[in-house]
Amino acid sequence: MKFVALGDTEDVGASCHFLHMDGTGLVLDAGTDPRREGPHALPRFDILHDHPDWYVDHAIVTHAHHDHMGALPVLIQQFPHVVAHMTEATRKLVDFLLPASARLQRKRRDKGETEYEPLFEEDELELYNHLYLTHDLQSDFDVTGMKGASPVTAQFYTAGHILGSAGVELRYEADGATRRLFYTSDTNVHGQSIIPGATYPEATDILVLESTLGADPEIEQTSREEEVQKFKAALQRVIGRGGTALVPVFVMGRAQEILALINRFKKENDIPSHVPVYTAGSMRAIADVYDETRHDTPRHDPDFKVFDVEQERLPYSESGHDEALQGPSIHVMSSGMMFEPTLSNLLARQLVEDEKNGILLVGFAKEGTPAHRLKEAYEDDEVEYPAVLLSPERGPQPLRCEVGVYRLTGHSNRRDLLGLVDRMQPQHVLLVHGETEAREWMADNINHFHADVDVHLPQWGEPITL
Ligand SMILES: [Zn+2]
Repeated sequence: MKFVALGDTEDVGASCHFLHMDGTGLVLDAGTDPRREGPHALPRFDILHDHPDWYVDHAIVTHAHHDHMGALPVLIQQFPHVVAHMTEATRKLVDFLLPASARLQRKRRDKGETEYEPLFEEDELELYNHLYLTHDLQSDFDVTGMKGASPVTAQFYTAGHILGSAGVELRYEADGATRRLFYTSDTNVHGQSIIPGATYPEATDILVLESTLGADPEIEQTSREEEVQKFKAALQRVIGRGGTALVPVFVMGRAQEILALINRFKKENDIPSHVPVYTAGSMRAIADVYDETRHDTPRHDPDFKVFDVEQERLPYSESGHDEALQGPSIHVMSSGMMFEPTLSNLLARQLVEDEKNGILLVGFAKEGTPAHRLKEAYEDDEVEYPAVLLSPERGPQPLRCEVGVYRLTGHSNRRDLLGLVDRMQPQHVLLVHGETEAREWMADNINHFHADVDVHLPQWGEPITL
């Protein structure tokens, strides 16, 4: 069996891994890199074309984040016989998110905001519908390729990351014995507000393990409930002084979990029920998918609906924004890292200079992003009001509002990831989806505690034979 990394290996960019198993060609995820544009955002499918026997028969899409599925239409363009497997909930989200991505790419190209043609068009996506197959959790499906000399069987396990997210187990023949590979994809072993934690198999031979939080020592020193309490206290402080609280979020997953928390705070009278909660854009459509699948997917409370928390739509006009920002109010807005020109960035510029407001960060913020700069500026004790650059167009602004970081992530901390290795006792661990420092910390610790495990750090295009 060969494993080849096609996506980003030194960072949390596009996820995509190729497996060649006794004649079967299989791709685990086909993501795009959110920080890159056009063809530069794609996995290195060209590496496959350099090897005539590396055909792709099947693709497994673990969840509906763009860095895991944004390149699926391009994979299909290049390997027209590929069949894509996913859970039913992921399918519902993909059916909404890929056309939205096609429209956005087209709009940006037409407005001259990018030099690149869209990677795919909206009407083309309809032709691919019949190539998507959905499967229940923990039920076998066949992924043997056209030229597969022995059978390959797959099974999804709930990953606890976002709605529909799954890890996948592959069973295949090697030297007359059945072997198992398990790909965790993005995972949270602990439950969140809506989605319960991952339920993974007891054991595996090869573990392909995400390492997003491998370089974060702080998150393992706190508990989710502690962070929930701190987040609640921050909201109470901002609302108490009549301010506006902005919670920048990723639209897919994080937004719904945060709304569920706000619902809980309002129900328990920790936050006055009349304080308006604003949301916008595709977040509302995704909330609908969460709500319509609540009886068929893993949930803590199948009766809870994301729309149980009353939501106002943020007005489009600037004057409408001004009105909506007259606190007290809560704004749950995309994007999580506050990229320009997203709403979270736009609103932050309006809020940041007033002491009564608060910007509450709840997710992972990469270095170089406006969210990260905001956090750095807030931690700067040298000056009373440090300057923060949210947008080059606006220029540096004095940071006067409250800023906080609450670790309400959809990922497992690194101790929990190591716990998966302890429990599943693989012979090989392949560390993926993490910055270099994160993967190295994970590798050092696995080597230290499990000297018998072979740890691999896949590099772009370099086949690993297992
Ligand atoms: Zn993800």
